[in-house]
Amino acid sequence: MDNNLDKLIKPELLKVKSYIPGKPIEEVKRELGLKEVTKLASNENAIGPSPKAIKAIAKDLDNIYQYPESNCFYLKQRLSKYLNVDSNQLIIGNGSDEIIVLVLRVFVKPSDKVIIADPTFLIYEIQSMVNGADLVKVPLKDFRHDIKQMKKAIDSNTKLVFIANPDNPTGTYLTNDEIDEFMQGLPDDLIVFFDEAYYEFAKDKEDYPDTLKFIDKKNVIITRTFSKSYGLAGLRVGYGITSNEIVSYMDKVREPFNVNRVAQVAATAALDDEEFLNRTLKFVHDGKLYLYKQFEKMGLEFIQSSTNFVLVNLKKDCDEISNKLLKKGIIIRNMKNWGLDNFIRITVGTKKQNKKFIKALSEIL
Ligand SMILES: *Cc1c(COP(=O)(O)O)cnc(C)c1O
Repeated sequence: MDNNLDKLIKPELLKVKSYIPGKPIEEVKRELGLKEVTKLASNENAIGPSPKAIKAIAKDLDNIYQYPESNCFYLKQRLSKYLNVDSNQLIIGNGSDEIIVLVLRVFVKPSDKVIIADPTFLIYEIQSMVNGADLVKVPLKDFRHDIKQMKKAIDSNTKLVFIANPDNPTGTYLTNDEIDEFMQGLPDDLIVFFDEAYYEFAKDKEDYPDTLKFIDKKNVIITRTFSKSYGLAGLRVGYGITSNEIVSYMDKVREPFNVNRVAQVAATAALDDEEFLNRTLKFVHDGKLYLYKQFEKMGLEFIQSSTNFVLVNLKKDCDEISNKLLKKGIIIRNMKNWGLDNFIRITVGTKKQNKKFIKALSEIL
């Protein structure tokens, strides 16, 4: 059919790559006829959701015929106490992914420069391209953001710099000193976006930066999420911390009911579930030590991670090994799309899942 669609589509969309998500467990079961499938591909919380969140959801289910609070009043109140910032400095998103979309919508017009690391979280690139941005990709150095080169890349056309801290897919983070040096003397007419999706896993490191100190001084946005450490990925809820002024512009471009009722209730309750958070941090810590040890035994190079996943170099084409793992019922993240042809990224699982993965990987290698 010649419907001239390519002339109707916004030209910037013609260049946009599609995001390829990790396959859901049920789909892999169906396709391969497997009974048991372990997914260690999307950095979900392997011990499940926060029990306090589940209880709160159960209590509120009868109310789902009502629209949610447009302004996420209770969640913002709770977060405001937790973070010690004003409620009006918070924006809640349908996942922290949505905050990335909103920021680009507010600030970036075609040909504005956006600076990202290469590789990093894929959504920055995809959504920047959707907005027609002129994307500048600064290669990693030793599997870390090359923050000095990223700063050098800033010019008068630059609108936005994305810093994933800790980074995905590497799991590394920039230190307090490195961030301070980066922020020093930065021009005022650009936005620095700190994506702290793995904040809870990194916060106890002595030199992990406290970026909240910048929100009243510079144009910065900090995002965090309930998807990883709180185990609520399926509900889609994350938040941004910034100035009240920036929040008010983002409010103009977001849908009025962007965060559903169940997500708001669950996230508010999860913030009170310290026991669950601590249990999560402990199993992730122990799981990483186990994986590191096994990788060392197998002679595999890996990157020390401050998140709930580990990037590992198989020294062989990762397509083949990913497929073999899949046939054994294990889904991991093949890093080819990120340009890391010999790498896989594995989410820390339960003890049993980690063992199953290591056993399968040793058999394959
Ligand atoms: C998982 C992840 C997110 C997205 O989280 P949601 O809140 O689920 O949208 C954002 N940034 C990075 C770096 C991530 O790995």
